Amino acid sequence: MKTVAEALALVLQQARVLPPSEIAATNVLGLMLAEDVASDVDSPPHDKSVVDGFAVRTEDFSSGRARLEVVELIPAGRVPSKTITAGQTTQIMTGAPLPSGADAIVMVERTNLARGKLAQVGDVIELEEPKLKAGQNIMRRGISMRQGEVILKTGSRLRPIELGLLAEVGRAHVKVHRRPVVGILATGDELVRPEVKPTAGQIRNSNGPLLAGMVHDVGGVPIDLGIAVDTAGSLRERISAGLTDCDVLLLSGGVSAGVLDLVPQVLAELGVEEIFHQVSLKPGKPLWFGTFDRSDRHCLVFGLPGNPVSSFVCFALFVRPVIDRMLGRHPARTCIARLTKAHSVRGDRATYWPARLIESNVIVEKFIEPLNWHGSGDLRTLAAANALAIFPNGGDHQAGEEVEVLKL
Ligand code: AMP
Ligand code: MG
Repeated sequence: MKTVAEALALVLQQARVLPPSEIAATNVLGLMLAEDVASDVDSPPHDKSVVDGFAVRTEDFSSGRARLEVVELIPAGRVPSKTITAGQTTQIMTGAPLPSGADAIVMVERTNLARGKLAQVGDVIELEEPKLKAGQNIMRRGISMRQGEVILKTGSRLRPIELGLLAEVGRAHVKVHRRPVVGILATGDELVRPEVKPTAGQIRNSNGPLLAGMVHDVGGVPIDLGIAVDTAGSLRERISAGLTDCDVLLLSGGVSAGVLDLVPQVLAELGVEEIFHQVSLKPGKPLWFGTFDRSDRHCLVFGLPGNPVSSFVCFALFVRPVIDRMLGRHPARTCIARLTKAHSVRGDRATYWPARLIESNVIVEKFIEPLNWHGSGDLRTLAAANALAIFPNGGDHQAGEEVEVLKL
């Protein structure tokens, strides 16, 4: 049986960064840029006022105050037409271009004009600014970026800030590593959809929505392939559909040692090559992994165990890193924390125990509290977890002991 580290290495060997493709900027949040982006404009595009006030000549302020005649009003979006000469000013709004002749802006608060009032052309305004300096309250053209300058580099992660920048430089489409398409198929005769009240022997399909949510969370595109029953025919039909369209195919259930656990056999018949089956892991031992190759497609196929927490843990350990890699990302997902209480783990498999990671803004140290979890079918307790505490071997662990933690 493979260890977690061996299994992860085998999985990652098969995961390739997806080729760059041009995508609408409205759909690239969280993705990695696959080109250098240069600005098509100077920003700001003109010398602009950063306050509401009056454009003036500092020469007129040798005494620290001036009485100036208003020659023009310039709201944002308008271009000034008048040059300011001695004794003149224009009223200017935040963002508007500086008129020629002016070399500073005096804030409206430093004048005798009532707040919120517009001056009229011909008005004489009294302004007081004892320490007025040339350039005051002016943002110079191109100070933020120059036309042609590279402002985002290949490999940048596109956060909301970067989306704002892309818009500023006119990019409605951008080259990124596209999102992997991830098919999700639940298997099991006992499964019904969430809206159905289960009858005797039935349970609802939790894994479908759980896995779709996780795929979405890490930046993949989940495709719901529904529920297959435990017959070779049903499995064959639905798995084939997934293999043709997906970069990753997630099956849940049907990979344990039961008579009706037909998934590995059907995958082999369909030409999916097995890379490993079973990992020394708790929960998640039955995990199956293989690949399917067609001329244009390399599909990674995971047979996840049916129990929801097992499926979840296998996703967090093996599928999430695959999606990260396909997107060109390498996020750090583990940290070290101290156990808040003693904890015992039975068996000798590496155990990933649902837990609450306690982080604070004032204490550098992190703490981890294992939850009172009832095993791989206990999804309810997992809902209180924000991390998995990693116990590489079974045995007893003391309060205060440091353990590695996988953040969820
Ligand atoms: P299996 O791996 O098919 O033997 O399933 C193991 C356990 O997980 C059984 O108790 C199944 O009923 C349960 N199970 C399988 N698939 C799902 C699913 N999609 N949602 C919730 N529970 C499931
Ligand atoms: Mg089953």
